[in-house]
Amino acid sequence: MTPELRALYQEVIIDHGRHPRCFGPMSDATHVLEGYNPLCGDQLKLFLKINHQVIEKAMFEGSGCAISMASASLMAQYLQNQSLDDARKCFKYFHAMVVDKSEPHEKLGKLNILQGVKEYPARVKCATLAWHTLLNALDGKHDIAKTE
Ligand code: ZN
Repeated sequence: MTPELRALYQEVIIDHGRHPRCFGPMSDATHVLEGYNPLCGDQLKLFLKINHQVIEKAMFEGSGCAISMASASLMAQYLQNQSLDDARKCFKYFHAMVVDKSEPHEKLGKLNILQGVKEYPARVKCATLAWHTLLNALDGKHDIAKTE
């Protein structure tokens, strides 16, 4: 990654961290799940409106470090109108990128902005918290999703 690209990615993460998109409660959510990353103290609540195997709307609330908030913000944006199938696939690609350090999959689009996190093992859980929460929600779990 070029230094210019890295700087641009950092700018987007800081921007989303400070001004998260899709932020706030949702009154007509069909799925609500909380996530917690004890390592850093990040917490979030994910709201999904799922209809006919499609995520019609995704929003979240929470507090935590810039990476956890930026990751949740970018994920929520990405999930709008995605099929459940595609959302699960995206979880795999995202996980592979930041945990297994694979090259970003083309389907990740803007989410590849978070690829730099793989170089900071302590922050990987901040980046994956929203995704673990999503997966638990899709799997019909009701307990708080934890990264530990
Ligand atoms: Zn964090």
